[in-house]
Amino acid sequence: MTVTSLEPEHIAISKSKGIKIDWKDSHHSEYSLAYLRDECPCASCTGAHGTEPQKSDYSSQESKSSNPFQMYKPVLRMLNVEPIGHYAVRIDWSDGHNTGIYSFEHFRKICPCEECRTARSH
Ligand SMILES: [Zn+2]
Ligand SMILES: [Zn+2]
Repeated sequence: MTVTSLEPEHIAISKSKGIKIDWKDSHHSEYSLAYLRDECPCASCTGAHGTEPQKSDYSSQESKSSNPFQMYKPVLRMLNVEPIGHYAVRIDWSDGHNTGIYSFEHFRKICPCEECRTARSH
């Protein structure tokens, strides 16, 4: 039996907060909604088909939200999280976007913990 480190042991989904994953190699990842939406791996967000990437910018909006003069603040939520086989989930976002299929490999690649951020910057 092969157990790869890219397999989640446990996934906790909160549609208003985000996703937490405990990996089989005992690594732990926590993704905020804004971060996940910005890291959407679909073709239109990443410009995979040679088109302009339509990357969202929720993370920076989130950090600016302490600004009392900001009139418009969209509330980002996940409406639905649908498993795709045993390797991915598809997320329906409240902003109408639903083409992003997040493989566990992608989740692991974008893990925002300090250890992984440091590893990626090298
Ligand atoms: Zn997308
Ligand atoms: Zn990590």
